[in-house]
Amino acid sequence: MPMNTPSPEPSPARSTAATYWLEHAWLDPSVEPGVALDVGADGRIAAVRTGVETPPPGATVLRGLTLPGLANAHSHAFHRALRSTVQVGSGTFWTWREVMYSVADRLTPETYYALARAVYAEMALAGVTAVGEFHYLHHAPGGARYADPNAMGEALIAAAADAGIRITLLDTAYVAAGLRSATHGEEPNRHQLRFSDGTADAWAERVSLLKEGDREHVRLGAAIHSVRAVPARQLGTVAEWAAVRGAPLHVHLSEQTAENDACLAVHGCTPTRLLADHGVLGPRTTGVHNTHLTDADIALIGGSGTGTCMCPTTERDLADGIGPAPALQRAGSPLSLGSDSHAVIDLFEEARAMELNERLRTRTRGHWTAAALLRAASADGHAALGWADAGSLEPGSLADFATVALDSVRTAGAVPRLGAEVAVFAASAVDVRHTVVGGRQVVRDGAHTSIPDVPSALAEAVSALR
Ligand SMILES: [Zn+2]
Repeated sequence: MPMNTPSPEPSPARSTAATYWLEHAWLDPSVEPGVALDVGADGRIAAVRTGVETPPPGATVLRGLTLPGLANAHSHAFHRALRSTVQVGSGTFWTWREVMYSVADRLTPETYYALARAVYAEMALAGVTAVGEFHYLHHAPGGARYADPNAMGEALIAAAADAGIRITLLDTAYVAAGLRSATHGEEPNRHQLRFSDGTADAWAERVSLLKEGDREHVRLGAAIHSVRAVPARQLGTVAEWAAVRGAPLHVHLSEQTAENDACLAVHGCTPTRLLADHGVLGPRTTGVHNTHLTDADIALIGGSGTGTCMCPTTERDLADGIGPAPALQRAGSPLSLGSDSHAVIDLFEEARAMELNERLRTRTRGHWTAAALLRAASADGHAALGWADAGSLEPGSLADFATVALDSVRTAGAVPRLGAEVAVFAASAVDVRHTVVGGRQVVRDGAHTSIPDVPSALAEAVSALR
């Protein structure tokens, strides 16, 4: 709990000047050998020097291929507690949701802090330097308010600080159980009471109490859970809150055909059309999943510059379907990636799954280059979370990066200049050797520098919820 567990570490963005020597670095779009990277005391990259054959004196040596830090653009941290238990039996997204709700019922600010800290440490070990937490577990079971109405959000912010990664807290409006009319939704069920502020106005009032302050690892953003969870006439309130602050705005969009059917029945249009009509779409907005879309939806999303966050390992786990990512990108929608339900936490797997899903669907190969997939996992993911100054290895960028081993059993033998290809198509999260956030090493030689035993932290946090 943030109030009584002060973080022993400084905000992860605070740093001292340092030089890193990268055996190989992905300087989009090519891999360069021997790169010296100077980090300033402000935690930003001060200089990038290529052709440096040997490590300069005093430099920290990072062997392998260094990539920009990975952005996990869509996370529900508590879903990590479902790993294994939801793989028994059969069903659909909707039966999975019942199991998910039973875990949601048991979380407190204290247990959520412990779980999220361990989950974000797992992300750091996987090379993730920024997470977009789509956060809707706001209140106590039954809907009672905590003394600090943002206690749960603050627990997540503290968890990210203590795990050493950046967080965009996408505080989520979730006030209804389903669509009923333009002004009212179905009443939240007993599980959903703790998600609900009652109205979007009340949501805005609570979220406005949250402050980034001088916490350099934090960005605040907004989310609309879905058109199911926020009545149409209240969508504009959330969009306006984000617009006034220039903040990112995320929304689950057409993950399920049932959502499309209900929207058509109540509003006579698709969820995408409804969002467009209420000012939700635009370049600061990201639609998560964007799975079951019409051609007109794709044109609306792309034409407005709205992003698309694909979560392929979750979408396949929940039997959602395969979204039209190539068509969305061609229409103008930037792509990002997220591990969402954390069936696994591995951004390389998310990136290759997007490409491999398309191969299965089309029976042709090469829809994206490895570089394009890495951009989705880094620069474009960061931009979707409001970190436009992260996700590339260039002067002025935040000094956030991750190094992948090129000598593991999965990656050995690859030609170094094809390091991006081996990272995307063969590496896994376990091949991440080092993770640096704001110039500070959060993972060194495969070990977290402030949470020595992440598996135990995960096991304790998950078993506390049983
Ligand atoms: Zn989600």
